[in-house]
Formats: sequence, structure tokens, C-alpha cells
Amino acid sequence: MQTFEYRKPSTVAEAISAAGELHARFVAGETTLVDLMKLNVETPQVVIDINSLPLNRIERTSDGGLRIGAMVRNSDLAHDTTVQWDYPVLAQALLAGASGQLRNMATTGGNLLQHTRCYYFRDTVRWLTVMDAGRMINLKTARNQIVGGVVMGIGMALFEETIYDSRNGKPINNNYADYLVPVNLDIPEIDVMFLDYPDKVMSEYGARGVGEIGLTGCASAPAMATYHATGVRIRALPIRLEKLMV
Ligand SMILES: Cc1cc2nc3c(=O)[nH]c(=O)nc-3n(C[C@H](O)[C@H](O)[C@H](O)COP(=O)(O)OP(=O)(O)OC[C@H]3O[C@@H](n4cnc5c(N)ncnc54)[C@H](O)[C@@H]3O)c2cc1C
Repeated sequence: MQTFEYRKPSTVAEAISAAGELHARFVAGETTLVDLMKLNVETPQVVIDINSLPLNRIERTSDGGLRIGAMVRNSDLAHDTTVQWDYPVLAQALLAGASGQLRNMATTGGNLLQHTRCYYFRDTVRWLTVMDAGRMINLKTARNQIVGGVVMGIGMALFEETIYDSRNGKPINNNYADYLVPVNLDIPEIDVMFLDYPDKVMSEYGARGVGEIGLTGCASAPAMATYHATGVRIRALPIRLEKLMV
């Protein structure tokens, strides 16, 4: 687990102001955040403990609604008489989740804002690409180009394949329902680094075009990783599970 600064504000305003800092996270019942920090999925630099804030009230509103404080524990909410009488489905849903001990700790705010519990999203795989693309004139747009190239490379390695009809040579999967491309959930966090070394041969500024260069080598990296993990060399992309069954 990475080191972090722990703060315990005594007012809501103080907590909100602290949360404005980069890489700050609130911690309430601690039933999710601490696990994720141990797994290095969440790496906050500042952890703001909001347990002493007065946010644990359940109140009826003048328009007939219900206002639930962010620090109301799941058990307290499930056993609140107003909730049991007027919102029985909410009470039942709360009591169907987790275990008694967890419900005693878990808060409404934490429950709504918890990171998904799906294992896939707890994966800490990262993609790092290091580019020698001359002198950087605009780091942001150059980085965007490279990120796009990496996504294309992952698509090439794992998804994209045109399948032709052997009778007439026409592509069968000529639409986005059948032709697979990676979507957001397929792509890990991408880090881009540039050597930022001027290429004076290419231009007097030392800059070069940063176009398709981002794609270079991207498809071979998953192929190499697949070989290291399984011992199977895949030489025809995309890499699919059935190709590993040799
Ligand atoms: C074994 C196990 C089984 C579980 N089963 C279920 C289940 O069946 N159904 C289900 O729904 N959940 C389940 N959970 C998840 C559980 O409900 C959550 O861990 C809990 O609701 C999170 O609340 P917390 O107060 O402990 O949040 P914390 O862990 O303290 O925080 C969770 C996240 O919310 C943010 N956060 C917390 N409070 C606030 C706030 N006031 N404002 C802004 N951000 C805030 C934190 O920064 C953090 O990112 C399970 C958890 C475990 C460990």
C-alpha cells in the first residue's frame, strides 16, 4: 500500500475543501476503499475521514420525499421505520447486500460511490508506451495521438479481423456489430512518455509528425506477453483464446 496523508475534518466545508486536492478520497465506512488501496487499485495521496461529520440523519422533506445523510449506515437505513413503511423495497435491497457486519459499517454515500466490485475493474494492468518522436511542440495533442495509436494496436492484437466469404470474396462482418473494435472497457490505463529529443534531420525545429507511430509495436506487445504467459507463439492476429489451444 502506498503512503498517504490522513485527515479528519470537523466540518463539511473543511471536508469539501480538502477533497478539491488532487488524488484525495473520502473514507466513510472503509469497507471498500481500504481494500482497493491494499490492491493498489486506488492510490489516493490524501484520505479524508468523514466519520465525525454530522451527516447521519434521515429526514422527511416538505415535498413528501426523504433526505438520507451520506453517513447513514446501511443497517440504520434498512431499519428506519419510515424507510420500512414507505420504502420497503429499499429496506429489502439494503438487507440483501453484503453481511450484517458490513452493513453496520457501510454508509449510504460509500454505497452509492463505491468502486464496482467486478474483479475485472480491480485489475491494475497498465499500458506504458515510450516514444522517440522528435521534439514535442504540443505535449497534449501528441499524447492524444499516441493514446489513439495504442488503442488501435490493442484492437489489432485482440479484436479486429475481417472475415471473407470464400464464395464471392465479400467481407461477412462488414458492420460494427460483427467487426470487433475495442471499447472503453477493453482499454487499460495508458501512460505515454516521450524522449523529447530533437530530430534535426527531419526538420529545423527538431519536430516530427506524431501520427501512426503510436501504433508501432503495439500489436506485438500483447503477442509477446501471450507467449510469456502461455508458451504459445501467435503469429496471426487477432489473438483469440482458441488459438492458444494447441
Ligand atoms: C464482502 C463484501 C460483500 C459485499 N456485498 C455487497 C452487496 O451484496 N451489495 C452491495 O451493494 N455492496 C456490497 N458490498 C460493498 C459495500 O456495500 C460497500 O463496501 C459499502 O457500501 C461502501 O460503503 P463505505 O461507507 O464503507 O465506503 P468507503 O469504503 O468508505 O468508500 C467507498 C467509496 O465511496 C467514496 N465515498 C464514501 N463516502 C462518500 C461521500 N460522502 N461523498 C463522496 N464519496 C464518498 C470513497 O471515497 C470511496 O471511493 C460488499 C462489500 C464486501 C467487502
